[in-house]
Amino acid sequence: MLTKEDIERFKDRLLKEKLQILSDVLGEELALKYFFSQVEGDIADRAQDLYENQVLASLSGLQRETIDKINEALRRIEEGTYGKCASCGADIEIERLEAIPYAILCSACSKKEEKIKPVKGL
Ligand SMILES: [Zn+2]
Repeated sequence: MLTKEDIERFKDRLLKEKLQILSDVLGEELALKYFFSQVEGDIADRAQDLYENQVLASLSGLQRETIDKINEALRRIEEGTYGKCASCGADIEIERLEAIPYAILCSACSKKEEKIKPVKGL
């Protein structure tokens, strides 16, 4: 079971990782602007969606995949389901989250999934 502190720590890592990817693509200045506009929510939703789509379009497949996973993990933190396996509902091993903070499957389910289709980075 994850404590509030664990979740805060993982959230921090997820946000940093996202910022890192955005910096690689947009350059640091734009990434920070984009990132903080998102965090503070001071751009109208529709404009932000449009901007987000443009940003996502400039990412490589793997970067985009990672951002998607990070967004999903952040959504799960908001929802209170972070750290639970999306497939079997068991707690994801904390060591696994330390290695991949955006993992949404426990290691057993991820192994099963890999047999069906290989998932990069999981
Ligand atoms: Zn599972």
